[in-house]
Amino acid sequence: MKASLIIAAGGSGSRFQRTLESSKRQPAGTSKNQTPPSKLFYALAGKPLIAHTVQVFQKNPQVQETVIAAPLEAHSELKAMIRDNRWRNVKVVTGGATRAQSVYKALRKTSPASEWILVHDGARPFVSAEAVEKICAAGKKFEAVILGRKVVPTIKEMHEDGRVLRTVDRSKLAEAETPQMMRRKTLLRAYEDFSGAFEVTDEASLMERAGVQVHLVTHEGWNPKITTYKDFELAEAYLNQSSIIRTGFGRDTHRLVEKRKFLLGGIHVPYEKGPLGHSDGDALLHAVTDAILGAIGAGDIGDWFSDKDPKHKNIASTKMLQAVLKDAAAQGFTVTHADTVVILERPKLGLYKKKMKENIARILGLSSDQVSVKAKTAEGLGPEGQGLAVTCEAIVTVKRVEL
Ligand code: MG
Repeated sequence: MKASLIIAAGGSGSRFQRTLESSKRQPAGTSKNQTPPSKLFYALAGKPLIAHTVQVFQKNPQVQETVIAAPLEAHSELKAMIRDNRWRNVKVVTGGATRAQSVYKALRKTSPASEWILVHDGARPFVSAEAVEKICAAGKKFEAVILGRKVVPTIKEMHEDGRVLRTVDRSKLAEAETPQMMRRKTLLRAYEDFSGAFEVTDEASLMERAGVQVHLVTHEGWNPKITTYKDFELAEAYLNQSSIIRTGFGRDTHRLVEKRKFLLGGIHVPYEKGPLGHSDGDALLHAVTDAILGAIGAGDIGDWFSDKDPKHKNIASTKMLQAVLKDAAAQGFTVTHADTVVILERPKLGLYKKKMKENIARILGLSSDQVSVKAKTAEGLGPEGQGLAVTCEAIVTVKRVEL
């Protein structure tokens, strides 16, 4: 089956903003120096909330394309996110005044080649790949399928003055979640045929009105809609308790010789000598690279970039580090911190430490307060002390969320 996914991300999130303002804590935005365009852009475990949502569906081969309906002010941030994550077939449209209007606008941009439409709330980042799979599989049997959970609490019907009228039979009740899936042409027609179509709060309601039998698939996972700031804090706690944190150590020494450019942390340090090496000899980036490899248990820099291989001759150490980072990311690891030491007698690095730190932070995708570069002399002792070599050490912390 071929499906297009619509992510409803058009809401103003006013309830979230209200509860955020009354809270003492401020969550981190994902772009520096600006207020995120909506709750979906606050960072959850270092990644925008909506990025968690989109990612689940990127892994599903049945989802051919994704259309995100979002407010105009969120478009540039979303487009950067799509580019940086190298997501496949994701486009952005401007949302409407109601959820249903947003979904309809996105629906009109979906490919007619998709027989099915999946609609999912941008604010539900924890839907499992298995639940999505279950919904897609149910399309073989049913016209419209939604994800939901059986209602567990005891439910009362009440009068507006507070009197309890009766206890509702909960065995027949379920809470509708997303994704919700239906045939593209049925959904299009329902929007065009029903005058109240733009007031519905979910697509299943529209299907019910159109006389299409909707089926509810239940699941046992946790798929909350992040509505208030309390929900967001709960989501953060959930991700944190599901994270594994590891550290890795790296160390590298290069001989200093004449007629070599001196690179440290990717920054050129003017000096009469530079590091001898098969690559560009950047001992600081090598130590960081080895520390990452150590943290993810993936060998050492020599295994990755053999100095016997002519294709690695004069290779830029930035490229080596980026290749290792990519492998770490493929295993679900993100670097959260790097602390380093450079042991060098001459030249003095005072002027360059800040540049090195900022450059390493940029490569690792961190802010500069998550990286440290410290410089030491060796008090005239040993090869570093005699100016014959530079040695660098690094400790790196990585994190992987395992839900
Ligand atoms: Mg080296």
